[in-house]
Amino acid sequence: MKTWDAIIVGGGIIGLSLSLALRKRALRVLVVERGEPGREASYAAAGMLADCTFETPAALQPLATASAQMYPEFVHELEDESGMRVDLRSEGTILFPPAEHVHDRPGFRAADLLPAPLAELEPALADPGRPALYLRERSVDPRALVSAALKAAKHRGVDTSSADAVTTIDLADGHVIGVSTERTSFLAPMVINCAGAWSGQLPPYRFPARPVKGQMLAVAAPRRNLLRHVVRAPEVYLVPRSDGRVLIGSTLEEAGYDKRTDADTIHRLHRAAVCLVPELSEARILEDWAGLRPGTPDDLPILGATAIPGYYVATGHFRDGILLTPVTAHLMAQIVTGAEAEYDLAAFSPARFVVKAA
Ligand SMILES: Cc1cc2nc3c(=O)[nH]c(=O)nc-3n(C[C@H](O)[C@H](O)[C@H](O)COP(=O)(O)OP(=O)(O)OC[C@H]3O[C@@H](n4cnc5c(N)ncnc54)[C@H](O)[C@@H]3O)c2cc1C
Repeated sequence: MKTWDAIIVGGGIIGLSLSLALRKRALRVLVVERGEPGREASYAAAGMLADCTFETPAALQPLATASAQMYPEFVHELEDESGMRVDLRSEGTILFPPAEHVHDRPGFRAADLLPAPLAELEPALADPGRPALYLRERSVDPRALVSAALKAAKHRGVDTSSADAVTTIDLADGHVIGVSTERTSFLAPMVINCAGAWSGQLPPYRFPARPVKGQMLAVAAPRRNLLRHVVRAPEVYLVPRSDGRVLIGSTLEEAGYDKRTDADTIHRLHRAAVCLVPELSEARILEDWAGLRPGTPDDLPILGATAIPGYYVATGHFRDGILLTPVTAHLMAQIVTGAEAEYDLAAFSPARFVVKAA
């Protein structure tokens, strides 16, 4: 019977990128995915790589900054190995912050003044006088990113089992020996739970991960280069893609595992986008969708070893999972292979929650 060094539960961007990082360290890796790899939160995301100090929880800032810096190299490798493009854009973000935040952080404001008048940076914006900041952030197309990660993983010899839901983490004498699925079982001395919003459902632990729904839509910009920057305001954000799409998001809803969109919400987001950029009223709506972010009680990820030898978790990336992908893969690969993690991960320890046996 075939065995592996490590089994990853969940083929989202976190699981796929970790599979690559482990494979690079010569581990034999299997990714087990309940559906099709990369079709859940990682497919739904806008792809902003937002590591800005006043939107990121303080405890997460070092990882957010490190991951943002790792992105160009991470993308370069994926594009190289997959032969696919993932639309990493570096035009930056125009942020319309809530007024009280600007007053709270005068130092931040001085560091992030606009490099040119707003009317020059983004002529399509309705209100060129609105207070704004410029952030040197990137964005990426998450759908292209997961496709490239999957192709690169296969290319590197990562095994995958799709349409195969893991039902339990299997133990013998208190140690991990593999996983059971609805169809079969797989053997490995290490298992990493990367099941996103579903990661709390797997025995023997109930990690307190929960789904936080986000609805979005995509439109076809009525003309080329209508927008160059990501534009983020408290009421809505706009993320341009190089192929002429503009993504408009998003909601934060506690709605369980319901992934339906509703017309009123989509219209509200669309109206808010048109208020920012009036020409978007002429834009054709291409699609709308909803995805489930993996949320946690303190809005921080859960990263590291559990109390069960051989059982690890990398989940709870909430609104920043695309941003945090490179650093998560890097750190989790260090932990799983017994090296010391490069950053202090105490704030993300699975042990901070009282996890009940299922
Ligand atoms: C609307 C929206 C906008 C977002 N925008 C951004 C953004 O701009 N920037 C950013 O950084 N982040 C963003 N995010 C957050 C980001 O998408 C997530 O944090 C990230 O995708 C989480 O990745 P993941 O691999 O943990 O989860 P997922 O992509 O959900 O992958 C988990 C996988 O596990 C599988 N699975 C579950 N249970 C089992 C099981 N029992 N057995 C086998 N497989 C299982 C699922 O099918 C799924 O494929 C956004 C999210 C949403 C919903």
